[in-house]
Amino acid sequence: MREKYDVVVVGAGPAGSMAARAAAREGASVLLFDKRRELGVPVQCGEALNEDVLKELDIRPDSRWALSKTNAVKLVSPSGIEVRIAERKIVGKIGYILDRKIFDKYLTTLAAKGGADIMVGTLVDGLILEDGKPQGVRVRGVNGRLEVRAEVIIAADGVGSRVARWAGLNTYLKLDDIETGVQFQMVGINFESPSMMEYYFGNKIAPGGYCWVFPKGEDMANVGLGILGSRAERRPIEYLRDFVARMPSLSKGKIIEINAGGVPVGGPIKQTVKDNLLVVGDAARQVNALTGGGIDSAMQAGNIAGEVAAKAVAEGDTSEKRLSEYEKRWRELMGKRLERYLRAKNVLVSLTDDDLDRLAKALSEVKFDKISLTDMLRVLIKAHPKLFWKLKGLM
Ligand SMILES: Cc1cc2nc3c(=O)[nH]c(=O)nc-3n(C[C@H](O)[C@H](O)[C@H](O)COP(=O)(O)OP(=O)(O)OC[C@H]3O[C@@H](n4cnc5c(N)ncnc54)[C@H](O)[C@@H]3O)c2cc1C
Repeated sequence: MREKYDVVVVGAGPAGSMAARAAAREGASVLLFDKRRELGVPVQCGEALNEDVLKELDIRPDSRWALSKTNAVKLVSPSGIEVRIAERKIVGKIGYILDRKIFDKYLTTLAAKGGADIMVGTLVDGLILEDGKPQGVRVRGVNGRLEVRAEVIIAADGVGSRVARWAGLNTYLKLDDIETGVQFQMVGINFESPSMMEYYFGNKIAPGGYCWVFPKGEDMANVGLGILGSRAERRPIEYLRDFVARMPSLSKGKIIEINAGGVPVGGPIKQTVKDNLLVVGDAARQVNALTGGGIDSAMQAGNIAGEVAAKAVAEGDTSEKRLSEYEKRWRELMGKRLERYLRAKNVLVSLTDDDLDRLAKALSEVKFDKISLTDMLRVLIKAHPKLFWKLKGLM
């Protein structure tokens, strides 16, 4: 290990590992820190991932971590009306249910094989600031206390990010901007199809969110929910226990793991770049606010951040102005998409259970052969012009 690196990455989740891999690929010396002794553990995720991002980043699905393939979705309204969407036009819309305990380590392995140094079991607990600009990090962990200097620091430290805040960026989350998730990994359950992802809606079962059943093999699934803390009257785990108990397909199953975590659903932070610093993934709130999915955007943003950081170091200019290429590129790639999902989430949380039932009824009468928000909205507005005002923000 050296005393100085071109790029230091804080956090070896999907964002940080992809950033470290890309920066090393571009020729930078890279050190990736994670406070966890075992990467990917504990899991705080439903583990669903679209295959597009794997193709885009040249990562071949591996049966060790891509546990099941999904190509269909079932949405269930509060009164039980089902909407089924089978992905018949299969153009890159296959999904996977991952094993993140293996997947996260695998991504870090790619970074290590690409040349990045890795230090796990090491918490970054401060920035070295000179004239208010980050020049490195202070860490403590398995190797004791250390200071490591860097030209660029990439903050990939997840939803609870502190690094960006230390550098003066606003990452404040209001209560309404955070969805609380809890999940059981269950065995011995029945589901309709191991390739179908099931979503259940209703203000009584999951206020401000939804419940999910994501198959993970023949009789195993991730069964979880995300709710808005500001709407909930009970603890998330109590809602989840009730959901499992009232579902005949689940109630006889056994829980072999419980995990929980927060998802930032208030949209990306306004500024993700400072002199010598970039912010990526959950730390930058680059999450699909409607589904709570953030693995794909974290990987994409991490990859861009790593590339830009390495190039900026090579050019000898790591100013905010030079690094803003990262901000421009990630916003071009996913900014509009994330904004649209945020508006969709805001509509979803404004709907009553009656609204949800009416919408589900309209959708259930149409055969969709791809999972497209636009196609669904067209049907909804045609069937329920009165809901136009609630849904118009999404068109
Ligand atoms: C209940 C739940 C269900 C979810 N389901 C899905 C889903 O099905 N699909 C999906 O796409 N997304 C899902 N998400 C969101 C997804 O987990 C995140 O968007 C994704 O992990 C973001 O990746 P990241 O690399 O930005 O952050 P993380 O994966 O959180 O990684 C951050 C890393 O930084 C490390 N770290 C933090 N602080 C420090 C520090 N100071 N020093 C050193 N290391 C530090 C942490 O140990 C961690 O390894 C879910 C989230 C929750 C909570």
